[in-house]
Amino acid sequence: MGMPVAVGPAGVPTRGEPLGTADRLLKLLDEEFPSPRVALHYKTPLQLLVATILSAQCTDERVNQVTKGLFARYRTAKDYARADPARLEAEIRPTGFYKAKARSLIKTGQALVSRFGGEVSVVVDTHVKRVTRRLGLVDTDDPEKIEFALQRLLPKGRWTRASHQLLLHGRHICQARVPKCHECRLYDHCPWEGKRPA
Ligand code: SF4
Repeated sequence: MGMPVAVGPAGVPTRGEPLGTADRLLKLLDEEFPSPRVALHYKTPLQLLVATILSAQCTDERVNQVTKGLFARYRTAKDYARADPARLEAEIRPTGFYKAKARSLIKTGQALVSRFGGEVSVVVDTHVKRVTRRLGLVDTDDPEKIEFALQRLLPKGRWTRASHQLLLHGRHICQARVPKCHECRLYDHCPWEGKRPA
């Protein structure tokens, strides 16, 4: 995934040109992850959010096996909010860390119901939080504010796909501890002071 990089004197990364419009961001994400659906299966933003929670420390293939049945039984955020913990734990057990994940799904469902009336538009998980902040797209860690900022920035038809691409970008490239800046398509536009020389 080589691309021209921006380095200043002595190999110090430059702060990058601002992304400006959403078009450039979307184009670069499309280049980086042309088929984001290949990994995790989902049809709605809520399903993507659930699959993402289940994917921690688990293969996408295993997650897809579990969500096949899960999505048929849990259709709305309310269904997760009201889930019986023991039953949900058993249903997601093959994905590992099932107690913590069941707690997280229930809490996420409850938060969605209380904050957004159960609707999910743009998925904001820990990866999306980190990536949007580093790229200077937002200036906050508050998932609700990030969601609104991305809604304003991105065309509605791209909300789900772009949030999945940002999530994959965080999972595979812009990782928390050691980001792979040398592989990053967004390098030239990344203003983060912690970015690594490519
Ligand atoms: S991988 Fe590096 S260059 Fe790319 S967005 Fe993250 S911090 Fe910026």
